[in-house]
Amino acid sequence: MSAAGEDVAAYDWWPAAGRSESPNQDARPSGMHPELIVVHAISLPPGEFGGPHVEALFHNRLDAAAHPFFAGIRDLRVSAHVFIDRAGRATQFVPFSRRAWHAGVSTWRGRERCNDFSIGIELEGDDHTPFAAEQYTRLAALIHWLRQHFPAIAADAVTGHSDIAPGRKTDPGPYFDWERLHALLRNPDPSTPGESRPGAST
Ligand SMILES: [Zn+2]
Repeated sequence: MSAAGEDVAAYDWWPAAGRSESPNQDARPSGMHPELIVVHAISLPPGEFGGPHVEALFHNRLDAAAHPFFAGIRDLRVSAHVFIDRAGRATQFVPFSRRAWHAGVSTWRGRERCNDFSIGIELEGDDHTPFAAEQYTRLAALIHWLRQHFPAIAADAVTGHSDIAPGRKTDPGPYFDWERLHALLRNPDPSTPGESRPGAST
C-alpha cells in the first residue's frame, strides 16, 4: 500500500499549473485512487470573469461585502483540484492524491460520494457563455497528463458535474463542447503538459 501511495504522491502536482494550496481537502478513503475526472464551471460573481473571488472561495476568504451573491456562499467549504481561467491559466489547489471538495452529493455509475475517487477541474465559465479555446487545450493537456500518471482513470471516465448530480447542478453547462474536448483527447498535443512552444499555438 505504501509503495502505491508514494507513486501517486509523486504526481501530486501538475507541473503546468501554479500552486495555491487550499485548506479544503482531506485524505481519500484508504486504498482509493483517482478513477474519474469531473469537469465543472464556476464564475464569481456569476457571469463575471477575471476576478480573484474563485481563489478566495477555495481559501475560505471570500469577501462577503464585495457582492450580494457572496453572503449566501461565504460559509461553503469547497475546493477543486485545478481551476482553469479564461486565458487557459491553470492553478492547482489540492494535491491529486488527496480529496478535494467539489462534487457534493453525487453518483457515478452507481457509486456515491464521487469526491472519494475523482479529480475535480473547474473551468472559469457559466451556463451562458462559450468557453475559450485556451481552456479546452489546457484541459485536454491536463487530462492527458492525469491519464499517464493515474492509470486507474479509464479512457471514458471523464464526466460533468451535471451528470453526477443531475437536478442539482448544471455545470459545466450547455456551452461546454464535449465533442471538442474528446477530439483534443484523441489527438493530444505533443507539447503536453502544456508549456507553450513556438508554433504550437493555433
Ligand atoms: Zn460543479
